[in-house]
Amino acid sequence: SIMPATLSGISNGARKGILFKGGVHLENLHKVKAIAFDKTGTLTKGKPEVTNLVIRSDQRKDEVLTAVAAIENQSNHPLAQAIVMYIKNNYDVALTSPEAVEDIPGFGVQSTLNGADWKIGKAEWFGEHTLESFQESVTDRLSQEGKTVVFIEKNGTVIGFIALKDTVRKETEEAIEQLKKAGITTIMLTGDSESTAKAIAAETNVDHYVARCLPETKVTELKKLLKQYGTVAMVGDGINDAPALATASVGIAMGEGTDVALETADVVLMKNDLPRIAEAIRLSRRMKRIVK
Ligand code: ADP
Ligand code: MG
Repeated sequence: SIMPATLSGISNGARKGILFKGGVHLENLHKVKAIAFDKTGTLTKGKPEVTNLVIRSDQRKDEVLTAVAAIENQSNHPLAQAIVMYIKNNYDVALTSPEAVEDIPGFGVQSTLNGADWKIGKAEWFGEHTLESFQESVTDRLSQEGKTVVFIEKNGTVIGFIALKDTVRKETEEAIEQLKKAGITTIMLTGDSESTAKAIAAETNVDHYVARCLPETKVTELKKLLKQYGTVAMVGDGINDAPALATASVGIAMGEGTDVALETADVVLMKNDLPRIAEAIRLSRRMKRIVK
């Protein structure tokens, strides 16, 4: 049966925009020693904007951008939406329909269009040779500025890239600060590159980060954290985060996250308001004292 203190804690939480799907999650929160955060859509707004677009000069730019827009138009990824918007707004391209587009989670998208094979996605997907061959120093610098760099490959050769910048939520730094003061270790898990992750980690002040995570890597990292810290919470918004949310002692979803994240989580932050996490932990600690 639910203790009166737990009930009042749950209703207190609801008033503050923290939805507990059961008393046990509120009770578990006081034990949390570490919290893992997804980057895109959780620590950041998840609304990236294109900042740079470079196509090798021996290519027909309109043809490349037509293909990129057509292919990315079939993907639901936030990067894809930003890329399509940018191309539509800045170039005169017609949106044609490519043959089947394959979404490779954590890597990018690929398709065949007008007889050419296209791949659009992260550097690691293309191997070392393609990286060295194309403006490495430029893309390195962009990553160090916290931008996500997406490469365009046509018939096995990288012929261009697009850089996108997502904005860190204005409450993120405060939220991390409060958790640190409460003695909790903060870790960022992201599918993004090492240098982009490093830049965002510095901007948000998290204690640690793990870059180049695939959805299953996020689960592996969580299991490591559980071994090290005992009780660990995970905060996320995406379909990609659902397995990690389920693995964590307490899964916390951003209120505007995807349905799968909301369904999987134990706690929902109604207004995407990250500082509410520290508040929820205070609530849980206070309740624990009352129950004792
Ligand atoms: P995160 O964990 O940062 O939300 P994801 O796991 O969704 O990232 O994706 C990791 C990386 O894969 C992205 O940073 C991007 O480089 C690449 N990627 C994924 N989907 C796409 C896409 N539709 N178009 C271009 N790049 C993509
Ligand atoms: Mg996300």
